[in-house]
Amino acid sequence: MLAEKVQHSKGGGVIPTTDGNLQFGPTAVEVCDLEDVSTTSEGLESLFHRFGPPLERLKPGYEKPDKGKIITQFAGCRAATYKEDFIIEPSKKVKGLVHAAGIQSPGLASAPAIAERVKDILVEVWNPSENSNFEPKRKRGKLFSELDDKERAELIKANPLYGHIVCRCETVSEGETVEAVHGRIPATSIDAIKRRTRAGMGRCQGGFCMPRVLEIISREAGIDKELVTKSEGKSYILSGKLKQVRK
Ligand SMILES: Cc1cc2nc3c(=O)[nH]c(=O)nc-3n(C[C@H](O)[C@H](O)[C@H](O)COP(=O)(O)OP(=O)(O)OC[C@H]3O[C@@H](n4cnc5c(N)ncnc54)[C@H](O)[C@@H]3O)c2cc1C
Repeated sequence: MLAEKVQHSKGGGVIPTTDGNLQFGPTAVEVCDLEDVSTTSEGLESLFHRFGPPLERLKPGYEKPDKGKIITQFAGCRAATYKEDFIIEPSKKVKGLVHAAGIQSPGLASAPAIAERVKDILVEVWNPSENSNFEPKRKRGKLFSELDDKERAELIKANPLYGHIVCRCETVSEGETVEAVHGRIPATSIDAIKRRTRAGMGRCQGGFCMPRVLEIISREAGIDKELVTKSEGKSYILSGKLKQVRK
């Protein structure tokens, strides 16, 4: 592991998420292994050291940063090419494929411009006809947790499944979970449900709701419980039965 590059990198900040959580970070530690997404206690300490005091100064009265309240930690690898530039080019082998690789920081901020460049390349190289049925917008349904009591009561009256809370940390109902499984793009893994509904994103990180979500996916999508995955592929949650159930 190489030293943290603090002089030449922004290397993080205090970030309130669109869902209201507060994030500290990230660090900017270079690692040699491109699949190393481990987190370290040193990284955690350094983030607290850097961002705790400014947070208290900027927002007096804001809840004090408290390590005991950390819900979870993440790490991601920057897609370094060591050329310090993005690679955006048409594939020489596959028709219609445009490579967008080595998209490291500021890849997120650059995403709209990258999309335009990819579109231009597609038009320049292959000149495809436009799909007039393409609908780029998706209407976002309101989450149960965002409704007021009256709206909740109406929804529960119309569909009692909304009255059954599956994830109590994030107040996610069975109704929303069932809807996600039957969505236009069906969400049939634990992580897919998490992304749609926030079930599993709260304090207990799925400890309470994961078995319930698994059951709902199995029931609604008609998948054996043993075959329900965390995140597609072979990431099965259950590996078999511990006890034989007496019939
Ligand atoms: C710690 C950190 C901090 C950053 N901070 C900033 C910032 O402040 N500002 C900024 O502009 N940018 C920032 N970036 C960079 C930004 O996040 C990336 O540039 C951007 O996410 C790259 O987008 P992408 O679509 O190329 O790749 P990704 O966002 O990595 O998306 C690739 C997707 O492909 C999926 N995938 C991979 N392999 C397979 C497979 N075999 N089959 C199916 N799916 C697959 C992955 O699961 C992933 O969802 C940061 C990056 C990191 C790691």
